Amino acid sequence: EGTVFLILLFIGFRTSRRTGRRERHLAGMQRTFLLAVTHELKTPVAAVKLMLETLNSREMSDEQRRKLVADALKETNRLEGLTGNILLATRLEQGQDQGELTSTDLSPMLLGETTRFAHLYQSQRTVTHSIQPEVVVSGEPELLRAVCFTLVENAIKYPPPGGHVGVALHLEGEAAVITVSDNGAGIPDEEKERIFTKFYRSGNEQVRRHKGTGLGLYIVASSLRLHHGRIEVSDNRPQGSTFTARLPLHDASSR
Ligand code: ADP
Repeated sequence: EGTVFLILLFIGFRTSRRTGRRERHLAGMQRTFLLAVTHELKTPVAAVKLMLETLNSREMSDEQRRKLVADALKETNRLEGLTGNILLATRLEQGQDQGELTSTDLSPMLLGETTRFAHLYQSQRTVTHSIQPEVVVSGEPELLRAVCFTLVENAIKYPPPGGHVGVALHLEGEAAVITVSDNGAGIPDEEKERIFTKFYRSGNEQVRRHKGTGLGLYIVASSLRLHHGRIEVSDNRPQGSTFTARLPLHDASSR
């Protein structure tokens, strides 16, 4: 009896230490997240304000004006993505009822996000797409749009300028399959699962070049789970990564 008691005590002690460590780790990530968010909100707001002031107060050539407007749009696009992600993550976190699942055509949604980003980054990236029309799933449009937005945004954001991004949507049996590939640095095997957890960002905060909060892929994975789908990442050849999202078609899920 004494031995059993000691063993139980030992197991209890180890479990509570592990839980404590996990909580401290999460608290640390949350602090980093708050700092990142504050910074991320302040910088684009200040930048857009300056750009608008410049547009308003100076004579400039059409070319200069176009460049300023394009830069301001990029910043507002990022702001919109960031604030949208914070709201969505909070909603998913609170396990609030998802909105009604309606029959949603993924094709124009993915095409819209792809062409929007392709246009915004036309001087720095080539984006090609092969999107089958009328791929209809049963889903919540806001969450599905966030899935498309994040996968395309990351594929454009992480690889260095000059990179190539490929976006595809097709039917595979009774599933809709979205693939987004890039030819950037790729994702090491040991991080392939962790990138889908909340706040996770690879690398070190001090040396990180890319802006972000670590919420995007968490939202992608949680949203796909809610739609009975899943997301995977694999290596692209010869380099980069390929994200593959699968979700049941509307007909399949309503049967
Ligand atoms: P964020 O982009 O805000 O950091 P995400 O959840 O979208 O958050 O991504 C988590 C991490 O996964 C990123 O910090 C990045 O390290 C890695 N990652 C995501 N997409 C790519 C990609 N296409 N190529 C390389 N790394 C990526």
